[in-house]
Amino acid sequence: RANRKFHPENSIITIGDETIGGERLGIIAGPCSVESEEQIIGIAKRVKKAGANFLRGGAFKPRTSPYSFQGLELEGLRMLQAAKKETGLPIVTELMSVKWIDEFEESVDVIQIGARNMQNFDLLKEVGKTKTPVLLKRGLSATYKEWLMSAEYIMSEGNENVILCERGIRTFEPETRNTLDIQAVPVIKKLSHLPIIIDPSHAGGESYLVEAGAKSGIVAGADGLMIEVHNDPENAWSDGEQCLTPDEFAGLMEKAHKLASFE
Ligand code: PEP
Ligand code: MN
Repeated sequence: RANRKFHPENSIITIGDETIGGERLGIIAGPCSVESEEQIIGIAKRVKKAGANFLRGGAFKPRTSPYSFQGLELEGLRMLQAAKKETGLPIVTELMSVKWIDEFEESVDVIQIGARNMQNFDLLKEVGKTKTPVLLKRGLSATYKEWLMSAEYIMSEGNENVILCERGIRTFEPETRNTLDIQAVPVIKKLSHLPIIIDPSHAGGESYLVEAGAKSGIVAGADGLMIEVHNDPENAWSDGEQCLTPDEFAGLMEKAHKLASFE
């Protein structure tokens, strides 16, 4: 159960040699989309050196327009594995369809359920039948309770390895892509024992907003961060405006780890 009533201690999710929810911040970094083997391996090396402990990269992309790039699909998964082989970084990537669940179980370390699929109950039940840790992003306009009920769908099938991710919610404000709801951290920690991380990249939608979002997440007590990093943001195939360069990411990591050590 996701409710803290049934589990007073914080849950620590183990992913290979790494954890999320323990002492150390879990830092997930990488491009929005996997674009080539060379790109994903190059970024993986850079983010690892800067202090990331997980590699992200979308192979199946939930794009608003069907005419936008939809991801390299299984070829993208293979490229993520090549990057893992080079760097050792565990892979976090989004699953959109139950059709690919066996491939994900075999080759992915953390299955991401995107904001748009937070209430795809069939998908939630199927990932619940696996043992693979799941990163459950908050829906675009989901309440805390709806979000936790989605976690419950996964857990009720037997998979208790759920990590929540606040990625901004829709509000009346058009200046930013979404509004980062920093209160999600203390509220989720009150209601649930599950770890929660912050994704300031999708929340703000612009790279200049990432640092403030990341820092506030750490100060609020989040268990980690998800940050989009691209070698050439201007030419990224998706979400370039919100990506940090590897150098900017390294700068952010220095600040983040200083803040985390204050706790
Ligand atoms: C992503 O992580 O690339 C993504 C599409 O995120 P979200 O589901 O939060 O929009
Ligand atoms: Mn993205």
